[in-house]
Amino acid sequence: MKRVVVKVGSHVLSEQNRIEKTRMMNLVEFVSLLHDRYEVILVSSGAVAAGYSKLKLDKNFISNRQAIASVGQPYLMREYQKKFEKFEKLTAQFLLTASDLDSRKRTKFAKNAIEVCLKNKVIPIINENDTTATDELVFGDNDQLSAHVAYYFNADILVILSDIDGYYDKDPRKNSEAKIKKIVHQISEDESKIPNEPTDFFATGGIATKLKSADFLLKRGKSMFMCDGFNLNDAKSFLLNEEHQGGTLFCPKMVD
Ligand code: ADP
Repeated sequence: MKRVVVKVGSHVLSEQNRIEKTRMMNLVEFVSLLHDRYEVILVSSGAVAAGYSKLKLDKNFISNRQAIASVGQPYLMREYQKKFEKFEKLTAQFLLTASDLDSRKRTKFAKNAIEVCLKNKVIPIINENDTTATDELVFGDNDQLSAHVAYYFNADILVILSDIDGYYDKDPRKNSEAKIKKIVHQISEDESKIPNEPTDFFATGGIATKLKSADFLLKRGKSMFMCDGFNLNDAKSFLLNEEHQGGTLFCPKMVD
């Protein structure tokens, strides 16, 4: 059975400082459909958004954001649990840091537990452990963590559900003539130098961290699919009907 890592960012999951429950429900329905056909690992942001509606601290301080995320994480999981139960799916929470995946021994421990979950049809939901690491909280919004998860946990593909429907030749929010790239085999040196421009205060990713993730995976022979997370039709077509309509597929070039 193929293994898929689905990453969803804060933009898709939240609206005006709180969890957007309809979009979350659509995501859960989609992941449940996928789960009937694939082994699925979900990497989810949203702890800060979930916590901020309960604890309104100044998010300019990293320690405050850590505290907000700590308040929010159980609320986020509660929402997931309630929603996945409607589809008779069991979920498990994993809080990881990139350094957990740097050490072979720690990766093995995390991997063993993930494997047992997958074997028993449990959907692991991974977020960064914001109390011991702040990389993704400061910068990354789980884009990089999800690429590490996809690689170290042997997934066939990473699917990034974004606030944009793919990767364009220019920033489409600034250039109306920007064109979407359907297939990308390599991240060029220029592309890897695109500066990080987080698009808002909850979401800390931006296109740069997505390209970094794509580069990491492509160099290791793995694929990544980036598509719209608000409307999941392209994700459904690609993963459930094997039709590449919208979205950008980053995949290694086949050598014949
Ligand atoms: P997510 O919500 O998935 O974490 P982000 O908002 O962090 O997504 O990053 C995607 C944003 O990056 C887009 O909404 C767009 O504003 C910006 N962006 C900059 N350059 C590009 C590009 N070449 N292609 C697509 N998006 C781009």
